[in-house]
Amino acid sequence: TLEARAVSAWFGSHQVLSQVSLTMPAGEVTALIGPSGCGKSTFLRTLNRMHELIPSAQFGGEVLFEGEDIYDPSWRLTDARRRIGMVFQKPNPFPAMSIYDNVVAGLKLTGTKVNRREKDVLVEESLTRAGLWKEVRDRLRQPGGALSGGQQQRLCIARALAVRPRVLLMDEPCSALDPTSTRRVEETIQDLAGQVTIVIVTHNMQQAARVSQQCAFFLAEQGTPGGIVEHGATEAVFNSPQDQRTADYVAGRF
Ligand code: ATP
Ligand code: MG
Repeated sequence: TLEARAVSAWFGSHQVLSQVSLTMPAGEVTALIGPSGCGKSTFLRTLNRMHELIPSAQFGGEVLFEGEDIYDPSWRLTDARRRIGMVFQKPNPFPAMSIYDNVVAGLKLTGTKVNRREKDVLVEESLTRAGLWKEVRDRLRQPGGALSGGQQQRLCIARALAVRPRVLLMDEPCSALDPTSTRRVEETIQDLAGQVTIVIVTHNMQQAARVSQQCAFFLAEQGTPGGIVEHGATEAVFNSPQDQRTADYVAGRF
């Protein structure tokens, strides 16, 4: 379980999130929805300290991973990255690097050392979990950039899975993909649910309904920092929203 407690965020003096609290239950898929600019990506980044790469970003609050605050000084950045992986909007494999080495790069990026035999095991395991193994098993030495966009995104998922993270953060992972590739990534998400805690940002309401069990609706009203208007079981948020703004948003009225 991942739990955000009173998370606030600023870029310089501009506050973009105020006191956001959300529990993302273990093994479930939580969807973050809401209009552009309301702070979904920023919130997602605070969940594994990715925002620390942006010099002007400031953070307040706590993020508990299985009860431990990832911002506690006893946690190194690599500890957070190893347990809590991330996949971005635009598939970003290393294009000239082989498919095999792209998956291995997931280990290197978090400073995880493994021997040759373990690497082979992890590459097959990660590509299998990402739903890509059958398509690439005979071409592991080909460059990652030779794959289709949808395959590249599943390769990025495999790269994130190489360290066997407990949580996977996905920021609009399908928005650069065609419908068929989108469907394949959704199937991968559905297969991973139960084993991995997933937090996915999406602008696609059908996708949120298909893949998530929990849903949080973010909003930043004019001149105010972003926050959660409503959250709960996806079924309830979509079919019986308690707040008129949620009802309007999920019905596509803004
Ligand atoms: P979208 O749906 O368009 O991806 P979002 O909900 O993910 O939007 P964020 O990207 O989190 O929104 O942005 C929240 C606010 O923070 C916006 O006002 C944005 O302009 C600002 N912001 C985001 N990244 C930075 C940055 N690196 N420096 C300064 N301001 C930023
Ligand atoms: Mg975003």
